[in-house]
Amino acid sequence: MAIDDHSPPIQSKLLIGGRWCDGVEGTTIAVTNPYDGTVLTHVAAATTADVDLAVDAAERALPAWRALAAHDRGRLLLKLADAIEADTANLARLEAMDTGHPIRDCLSLDVPRTVLCFRYFGGMADKLEGSVVPVDAGFLNYVEREPIGVVGAIVPWNFPLMFTSWKMGPALAAGNTIVIKPSEITPLSTLRIGELMQQVGFPDGVVNIVTGYGNTAGQRIAEHPRIGKVAFTGSTATGRRIVEASAGNLKKVQLELGGKGPNIVFADANIAAAVGGAAFAIFHNQGQACIAGSRLLLHESIADAFLEKFVALARSIRLGDPLDLDTEMGPLTSQLHQERVLSFVDIAREQGGEVVTGGRRPEGAAFDTGYFVEPTIVRAKPDHRVAQEEVFGPFVTVLTFNSDEEALAIANGTQYGLGAGLWTQDITRAHRFAKRLHAGMVWINCYKRVHPGSPFGGVGQSGYGREMGFEAMREYTVAKSVWVNVDAQLPPFYKR
Ligand code: NDP
Repeated sequence: MAIDDHSPPIQSKLLIGGRWCDGVEGTTIAVTNPYDGTVLTHVAAATTADVDLAVDAAERALPAWRALAAHDRGRLLLKLADAIEADTANLARLEAMDTGHPIRDCLSLDVPRTVLCFRYFGGMADKLEGSVVPVDAGFLNYVEREPIGVVGAIVPWNFPLMFTSWKMGPALAAGNTIVIKPSEITPLSTLRIGELMQQVGFPDGVVNIVTGYGNTAGQRIAEHPRIGKVAFTGSTATGRRIVEASAGNLKKVQLELGGKGPNIVFADANIAAAVGGAAFAIFHNQGQACIAGSRLLLHESIADAFLEKFVALARSIRLGDPLDLDTEMGPLTSQLHQERVLSFVDIAREQGGEVVTGGRRPEGAAFDTGYFVEPTIVRAKPDHRVAQEEVFGPFVTVLTFNSDEEALAIANGTQYGLGAGLWTQDITRAHRFAKRLHAGMVWINCYKRVHPGSPFGGVGQSGYGREMGFEAMREYTVAKSVWVNVDAQLPPFYKR
């Protein structure tokens, strides 16, 4: 099946060793459109045996791929970026129908950011240099960065296309081969990337795509004895299971987990900019973002005025068909997740929180079949569950503060430490907070900025390791230290 008359057929098989194939057990998973519930296709449900075959293929491809000149690996990534760019209309539609992202976001963010990421790491492939260490006289010590080998990547359902590029870009540039598992809910854009890789000439087996369930295919990737590293994006609970599963062969683990991003608005902030920024921080992608600004901290003196504007903006967001270019918010990506997000509305009320707006599925025939949740704003206290737990939806918890110290204590008062934002005109305060916020990323007078050159990742229960930039290249390589005796006259250690 194709998504329209102009698009290629939707790929639904596994990519193993350059061949598109059914799973060993022949079972499939229905992939549905979260807007209307229609089945887009059935993808192969990979099991342990399929992951094993994918690892075999990745191992076979490894020697030639890592031996390829770095600039040739880079050139293939650059060609892939061009192919994705040329496929923008198709990929954007596919992503919108599979995830519920509004197509205007797919066209302006998801696809261009994917292109940028592959292009960045295509250019990066031959820029990762080793070093020479000044050691004792008579010796030369140089350090090379070597690929790890076969890398496993587990991609969640919230930004499947982009996160595929975040993992594949640095892993391939560094000379690793990959077994990648997209979420079973949203596998289609990753499969399309696999097709484009074949078109631009990636060797067979360098990238292997296994669609399947987390607790079977994902678990096997995490525990596989011949996978050297696993890169995971998803929940903190599953991240812990991955660490446990990885222990067997002591594989390297990179975790990009949950967040409860504080977005702090001080009394001196540019309020119009902060209102717009706070809305983007939480409502973009229906709030399904680990870096979402899901806790809005407002100074008491501006809280009411700010909220008036913020609520008006939230109520004006256009919900609807993701394929309509006017739609600003689509459905959540699955029914299960819609129910989970709505359950937090009850949790908020039970603990004395006030639902200022939203908190429901929108009314009207247009929303009957889709997994929609209205943009939701809740006032609560810092120790309430909705101020501590990741909701991962269009749901923002508003908290107030009276002093800088109080703002900092609230901001740092969760188990997470991923992204944090602040809005102020006071440059001293801005940098003081940037230093003291417990977070991997801080945005000053903006929110949720990302770029392939800038390290992305968290601290605390938000995980460890960094995506993007030189940091990512280091994550996907290991250092090898080589000692050379350049002075044949070394005195003997044992004098005889
Ligand atoms: P999970 O962490 O369970 O899923 C994320 C990815 O991990 C999916 O690809 C999933 O595969 C895979 N997975 C699940 N179990 C295992 C396992 N045992 N071993 C290896 N891989 C596994 O998150 P959920 O989808 O259940 O979402 C729950 C919550 O997690 C969200 O509400 C949100 O708070 C958080 N989350 C955070 C994300 C982020 O960007 N940091 C992304 C997604 C979720 P499959 O879907 O095929 O089962």
